[in-house]
Amino acid sequence: MFIVLLGAPGSGKGTVAEVLSQNLKLAHISTGDLFRENLKNETELGKEAKSYMDKGELVPDDVTVKMLEQRMEEPDIANGVILDGFPRTVNQAMILDKLLEKKGIKIDMALNIDVPFDEIVKRISDRRSCKGCSAIYNIVFNPPKQEGKCDKCGGELYQREDQKPEVVQNRLEVYKKTADEIIKYYEAKNILRTEKAGDKAGRTSYDVAGEIEEELRTK
Ligand code: ADP
Ligand code: ZN
Repeated sequence: MFIVLLGAPGSGKGTVAEVLSQNLKLAHISTGDLFRENLKNETELGKEAKSYMDKGELVPDDVTVKMLEQRMEEPDIANGVILDGFPRTVNQAMILDKLLEKKGIKIDMALNIDVPFDEIVKRISDRRSCKGCSAIYNIVFNPPKQEGKCDKCGGELYQREDQKPEVVQNRLEVYKKTADEIIKYYEAKNILRTEKAGDKAGRTSYDVAGEIEEELRTK
């Protein structure tokens, strides 16, 4: 099974990916997480990506694709994959198609999590990350037990550069520019599935994940 997750930064697609990967035993591949790992380990790739990430811009395709290709060589993808954060442009979608074709894999579903932008800006600005283990908290919905301190590792919580309001706006602008065409791309292939989530829709990411999980189980 191969699922592609679409949705704006802060749409909750990371949460949906976590739930589906755990419950359906799929490898969760998040390009954002892979980049952050490279940053933390100060790899060459991390150095190349840093300036783009700090501004909320897309990292150039050659760097991103190389990283994804490497990840797709790991044995855990055999059981299926939930891909989160890639593709972000039609060009990346076409690159992904080629990469998968070589491996004889077909995309089963492109799941688009649709949350209104005003809700997203608020959500991301309320996020805090742990300096130690990168865990993410929401100071309103999912606060740590002790303010400013990570429940898991006791690390210091801070607002990541790309969680600051100006950068969030830019990330959303970057997303908006390419979202429509990528959604149309998968629509034309008859694998697009759009699910509304958020306060206005009255559905959380967990609600969406639960429904899709049921459906995929019987597939
Ligand atoms: P977001 O919450 O904005 O979706 P991610 O955690 O997915 O953030 O990604 C963080 C950053 O990593 C992005 O702002 C971008 O700089 C880089 N990145 C992640 N995935 C891609 C991609 N597919 N193409 C280019 N850059 C990417
Ligand atoms: Zn921590």
